[in-house]
Amino acid sequence: MKSIYVFWMILIILSLACNFSASEPTPMPAPVSPTSAPIETTTAAAQPTETNLTMLYISGTTHIESKPQTWPNVDAFLAFLRQVTALGMKWSVGADIGWLEGEPRAAELIQASEALGVQWDVHTHSPQDRAKAAYLITQLGGHPNSVVSGMLVSEFNSIAPQTYQGFTWTPQVLWGGTNCPGHRPGCDDLAAGLWIPLSAEQYTTHNPNGQYIRVGGGTHQLEDGLALAQAIANGQHTYPVISFTLMVSPTTLTIVESSDGMAEITTFFNEMNGYNFVRWANIEETAQAWVEAGSVPSRIEME
Ligand SMILES: [Zn+2]
Repeated sequence: MKSIYVFWMILIILSLACNFSASEPTPMPAPVSPTSAPIETTTAAAQPTETNLTMLYISGTTHIESKPQTWPNVDAFLAFLRQVTALGMKWSVGADIGWLEGEPRAAELIQASEALGVQWDVHTHSPQDRAKAAYLITQLGGHPNSVVSGMLVSEFNSIAPQTYQGFTWTPQVLWGGTNCPGHRPGCDDLAAGLWIPLSAEQYTTHNPNGQYIRVGGGTHQLEDGLALAQAIANGQHTYPVISFTLMVSPTTLTIVESSDGMAEITTFFNEMNGYNFVRWANIEETAQAWVEAGSVPSRIEME
């Protein structure tokens, strides 16, 4: 018995010696610098910052509905996408089932636009059609992203991955959001900024434990985007990441509810680049940037 005890003692001493000798030459890890500490909303908001840490991410998007009267002229739309992407803007398109199934040049537009860096979001008026739309985009040679581009706020609680024909589509980002169906005036939630909605009932409450990131597009109007940038420059919104989306009609290729076209968009682009905190990104990239900057909710009412 005694020899076993001594044997264990020797083993313990040896292992301690090994631990010490192994740890001795290893330098201590460098102390974590204060800037890389996890972002806490309370402390970040309480401390006045000398430098402007807010970033304004601007995306552009176009919806194509199922009804053929609302379909874009493919050549004109491609020319538009070439112009905005050549400027340095990032665009996305969300097309409903009717167009994906009915437009003879859908594959051509999807593939040519993706070559320009345009992303394909998922925009369907029927919530159960989302996986089908994503599947059709892949069949047409495209790569659908994780953006639910437009939805009723009331369907938030049922947002989940969907499968169609064995193809599973997983939503991660929610763009837009309306309180009543059919693109009627006064229905859309026109807040800018990002957060994770708590529920359909408490949609504007941020849920730090939730998973679906809401990217607010704001009013889509050029003058409102400029005013938002000026407000940020004045130190009015001290969130790390704020979002705003230009939205262009597929038929007129002007900003929705406006006559502003390519010329005005170009002027807007140049004016916005005067602000060093402006970034051009797709809706999905905006959500990624928001997460990387600490997921600080930044809902801003614009009405
Ligand atoms: Zn629509």
